[in-house]
Amino acid sequence: MLDRRVLPIARSTAAPLAEALGRRTARAALVERGPAEGALRCTACAHRCVIGPGRRGACGVRFERDGALRVPFGYVARANVRFVETNTIYHVLPGARALTFGMYGCDLRCGYCQNWYVSQALRERDEREGPSDISSDQLVGRAVSESCRVICAAYNEPAISAEWVHDVFRRAKERGLVTAMITDGNATRELLEYMRPVTDVYRVDLKGYTEEQYRSLGGRLAPVLESIALAKKLGFWVEVVTLVVPHFNDELPGLRSLAMAIARVDQDIPWHLNAFQPRYRMRDRPPMSAGLLVSAAGSAYAKGLRFVYVGNVDHELGELSHTRCPCCHETIVRRRGYESMLEAADPSRCPRCGAAIPGLWRAPKSCA
Ligand code: SF4
Ligand code: SF4
Repeated sequence: MLDRRVLPIARSTAAPLAEALGRRTARAALVERGPAEGALRCTACAHRCVIGPGRRGACGVRFERDGALRVPFGYVARANVRFVETNTIYHVLPGARALTFGMYGCDLRCGYCQNWYVSQALRERDEREGPSDISSDQLVGRAVSESCRVICAAYNEPAISAEWVHDVFRRAKERGLVTAMITDGNATRELLEYMRPVTDVYRVDLKGYTEEQYRSLGGRLAPVLESIALAKKLGFWVEVVTLVVPHFNDELPGLRSLAMAIARVDQDIPWHLNAFQPRYRMRDRPPMSAGLLVSAAGSAYAKGLRFVYVGNVDHELGELSHTRCPCCHETIVRRRGYESMLEAADPSRCPRCGAAIPGLWRAPKSCA
C-alpha cells in the first residue's frame, strides 16, 4: 500500500490565517494595470477581479499592497504522496507515485468541496490550519526522494497561486517529473499560456451544464468550456471530471450535453463521471446512485467519446474504471480502487488490434 502520510514540514506558529498568508507572498505575474487609476486587474482566473488599493480579490489570497498585486508563494497547506489515480488522472503513468500539494483559498465555493478546510478556510474563518514553509527546490526534492514521477497541484484551486505553482513545476520539469494542474477550469488565456511551458496535464472539473448551476458555485460555465478547448489546443494532456450530485446536476439530457461539448473539442479526452458522497454543506443529501452514471456513460459513448469512466461507486462496477481499446475493447489498464495494473507492456498501443491509445504513458527524461 502506498504511504499517504503528510510530508514532515515545519508548521508556522498559530497566527490568524489571512495574516500568516499575507506574509508569504511574491509579486504577481498574472496582473495588468487598470481600469481605474491605482487599480489592478488580476488575470489568473476568469473572475478577472479589479483590485483597488489595500483590497483583495474574490479568492481572498491575492491582494494589493504598495501598488503591486501580492500572491501566495513559498508554502503549502498540504503535501501528500499518493497514486496519481487519486487525482482522477487515468491516462498518465498508471500506478505512478505523485506528490500532491495544495494551498489555501478558492475562486469558487462548492457546497460539496472535499477539501473545504483548505479551499474555504478563509471564508469559514477556520483557524485550525496554518501554512507550512517550503521552497520549490525542497518540495520537488521531496517528490524525487519519495520516488514520485508526477507532481500535482490540487486540494484548492491552483490558478489562484499560479506563480508559486509555476515555480514548483519549473523545478519539477528540470528533474524530469510530469506536472499536473487539478483545476476548476475557471481559467483565462493568460493563465493557460503562462502555465503551459511547465505543465503537462490539465485535469479539469466540469461541474454543471447550466449557468444557474455554475452561479450557485460562484462561477460561470462558458469560461470552463473555453478553457478545455484552449488547453487542448495549447497541447496540455486534458482529462475532464464531472462529480454528479443528486438534485444538482443529475439530469441525463444535461450530462449528455456535456459529453457532446467535450466530444466537439476532442473525442479522445477521457471523461470521468464520479458519484457524489455527502460532505461539507451537502451532508444531508443522499449519495449518488450508480444507475444514472452508467446511463450517462452509455450516452457519452454514443455521442462519440472514446474513454468514459465511472468512479466512486461499488466494486461491482469496477469494470467501468478500466481503460479499454476503443476499437476492439481489449483491456489496456485494469483498475481496482486507486491501484492500476497494466495489461499491455506498451499502453500507448492496443496489443490486440494495434489502435493508438492516447495519453502520457512515458515519463520525460530527467534533466537533473
Ligand atoms: S485569482 Fe483571485 S484575485 Fe485573481 S481574478 Fe481570480 S478570484 Fe480574482
Ligand atoms: S473549485 Fe474545487 S477546491 Fe474550490 S470549492 Fe470547488 S471543489 Fe473545492
